[in-house]
Amino acid sequence: MKAAVLEKITSVRENPQPLSFVELPDPEPGEGQILVRVSACGVCHTELDEIEGRTPPSSFPFILGHQIVGVVEKRGPLALKFPEGRRVGIGWIASACGKCGYCRIGMENLCPDFKATGRDLPGGYAQYVTIAEDFAFPIPDIFSDAQAAPLLCAGAIGRRSLRLAHLADGEPLGLTGFGASAHLVLQLSRHLYPRSEIFVFARSERERQFALDLGARWAGDTSEKSPQKPAAIIDTTPAWKPVVCALESLAPGGRLVINAIRKEEADKDQLLKLDYPLHLWQEKEIKSVANVARRDIEEFLALAAQIPIIPEVEEYPLADANRALAELKAGVIRGAKVLKMD
Ligand SMILES: [Zn+2]
Ligand SMILES: [Zn+2]
Repeated sequence: MKAAVLEKITSVRENPQPLSFVELPDPEPGEGQILVRVSACGVCHTELDEIEGRTPPSSFPFILGHQIVGVVEKRGPLALKFPEGRRVGIGWIASACGKCGYCRIGMENLCPDFKATGRDLPGGYAQYVTIAEDFAFPIPDIFSDAQAAPLLCAGAIGRRSLRLAHLADGEPLGLTGFGASAHLVLQLSRHLYPRSEIFVFARSERERQFALDLGARWAGDTSEKSPQKPAAIIDTTPAWKPVVCALESLAPGGRLVINAIRKEEADKDQLLKLDYPLHLWQEKEIKSVANVARRDIEEFLALAAQIPIIPEVEEYPLADANRALAELKAGVIRGAKVLKMD
């Protein structure tokens, strides 16, 4: 099969071609696994974190990608859930132990044995991938393959972020950063909290306009003040300045939910600006979002089909994976980037 592989940790700015294109043997599904012929795979900011070593892959060379849509090509022994030819999706969660205290209460995202697709197990920047059938999801018919791909990570983790924001309908919501996940969260929150107004903080004018097009009440720069203080702000940026600005913007008792697997180091000195009375006093809370559980993916797919949320996608052939990643790094974003296999 054709695959794009990461050979080593590198800087995307200094090395704009981090992935190599190789021919590999097709994988074989093991017990309880399915072999999926990949049709589309979303490009996520987490891939930049992997390439640059903030959350490195488990071995090299390695196939990245964890927002996968394809069809079941073959079933391994004891895999009975999906017939061959059925369309399925695969997200960040590739496995969890099923036995620990976290798994038993539905918080498998915190399982000490949590394994991630495209980091601990080979991912979807390839023509084929294998997955345990219990960690594959049927895809609602209304989505094309490319439209469904970003729902599997950006959408699912957006669902989780919004859950952790504990918003009540009518309370103002802030979003800082407006990429793939935030544009889905905005649409989801308009459905779940129809009386809540949404305020978007984003660096680029293009992102701000996109937020307004999707129904944000207001959009301003990262450090601007929104007309109302949000009760919760969800941060989807890779940087620290938005964290500090968001803490200042929050209403008393407000929650900042940080949806980023790792933050970059470039502007870490912004944290020295933290001022206790301005940023933390008044019972402000900070919560990070770690991974996703299967129910985040299942719930989000069902809600997205019902609302419906049709993500805006930009398609690239697999051969242009490096260009898609470079554009993501440079912040050239309108909706979600998706690789299409031939
Ligand atoms: Zn992702
Ligand atoms: Zn567990």
